[in-house]
Amino acid sequence: MNILIVGSGGREHALAWKINQSPLVDEVWSAPGNPGMHEIGPCFDVSPTDQDAVEKLVLQLEPDLIVVGPEQPLAEGLADRLRARGFDVFGPSAAAAQIEASKGFSKDLMAKYDIPTARYKRVTDVAAAKAFLDTLSAPYVLKADGLAAGKGVVIAETREEADAEVEDMLSGKYGDASKELVIEEFMTGEEASVFALTDGENVVLLPAAQDHKRVGEGDTGPNTGGMGAYAPAPVVTSELMDDVRERIVLPTLKGLVSENAKFQGVLYVGLMMTPEGPKVVEYNCRFGDPECQVLMMGLEGDIVPLLLACATGGMSQRDFDQLQPEGGFKPAATVVLATNGYPGSYAKGSVIEGIVTANQLKDVMVFHAGTDVLEDGSLVAIGGRVLNVTATGTTLDAAFAQAYSGVNAIEWPEGFCRTDIGWRVRKS
Ligand code: ATP
Repeated sequence: MNILIVGSGGREHALAWKINQSPLVDEVWSAPGNPGMHEIGPCFDVSPTDQDAVEKLVLQLEPDLIVVGPEQPLAEGLADRLRARGFDVFGPSAAAAQIEASKGFSKDLMAKYDIPTARYKRVTDVAAAKAFLDTLSAPYVLKADGLAAGKGVVIAETREEADAEVEDMLSGKYGDASKELVIEEFMTGEEASVFALTDGENVVLLPAAQDHKRVGEGDTGPNTGGMGAYAPAPVVTSELMDDVRERIVLPTLKGLVSENAKFQGVLYVGLMMTPEGPKVVEYNCRFGDPECQVLMMGLEGDIVPLLLACATGGMSQRDFDQLQPEGGFKPAATVVLATNGYPGSYAKGSVIEGIVTANQLKDVMVFHAGTDVLEDGSLVAIGGRVLNVTATGTTLDAAFAQAYSGVNAIEWPEGFCRTDIGWRVRKS
């Protein structure tokens, strides 16, 4: 069969790499892809958010499965449109993608179906916001309702800061995304993410992962798209995983079915492991980036039958469970190489060398996220987050060591990485 991947980041490169290993797969196509994905199969210069162009491409190629990586096209209804044309799509409908695209929608869903999360209120005016803030104590959590590229959440340490931020956000700091806010109680604990592959009713959970959002060592400095990740995250023990499945994942999926928003694809559950048990911080309607890179590398066996079953639906849980990739999961880690200056402003066009050498190291794979190839064949950085050096090992420590060996093989003076990915669990 032939599979089309929609997207161009490290997440999509990792999906293409894993899918390409399946004996069921003839070709892996990408739209638009990146230089790493180009080595796997043909890339088509089509933007994921240009629905007309994606539909045209799909009608030409007639893939047996389409895997949509990023949230924006899903929230805008790309999966609905391609399903209406008769294609099998791994990725939720626009209705189900609201679980990420509207924080108000996701909080109301959790309240209605009794899913553990922080107490909250949706507000559209300053007076209502301040009245709810009066019922909370510092720190205060303020969230823009809509998609704000991971930047729409403010944790205000003081009431003054919270009041000022509420006014800024409601008067359009994040455009339409912050015309409505969700104000939440602050939760304490360690964070982790759980990924549920689902056809809307049946579910296979992948191992929990932990990412590092802050740019600086020791989780300091401004937020980024993610500077590294690892899995499995020991903070989510197998008992807690069962709890997450029973009290969070299954009720969420049932709730979505009841709301006529059946979810087919991967439900990303961002969790806070609080003293009262796991609570939901957020949902995403797609794989995390860079968590996807460690999940794809760590997972043994063939993922394609499971992706296909999520897209087609209609199986019993017993049959669905049989599709769990065989061989379990190897500890895996990824280190993001970013351009100096990121997440602030940064230059484009610096030359990167050494990827071939890094990829020759045992159990190392470098996924491309923000690269381009010049006419003379040199590889250059064109983004903030540029490469994801990913590795597996017999233990998490071995995986971290191997990922950093990969980093050391890459020659790119204009790039940097965090040297402490996995610090919570690292023993060496
Ligand atoms: P992402 O980039 O992960 O998609 P987002 O903009 O969708 O982020 P959230 O994940 O809801 O926003 O929040 C971002 C971060 O803010 C969380 O990872 C967590 O560290 C912190 N946070 C959010 N809600 C709370 C809360 N209620 N209590 C404590 N911390 C929180």
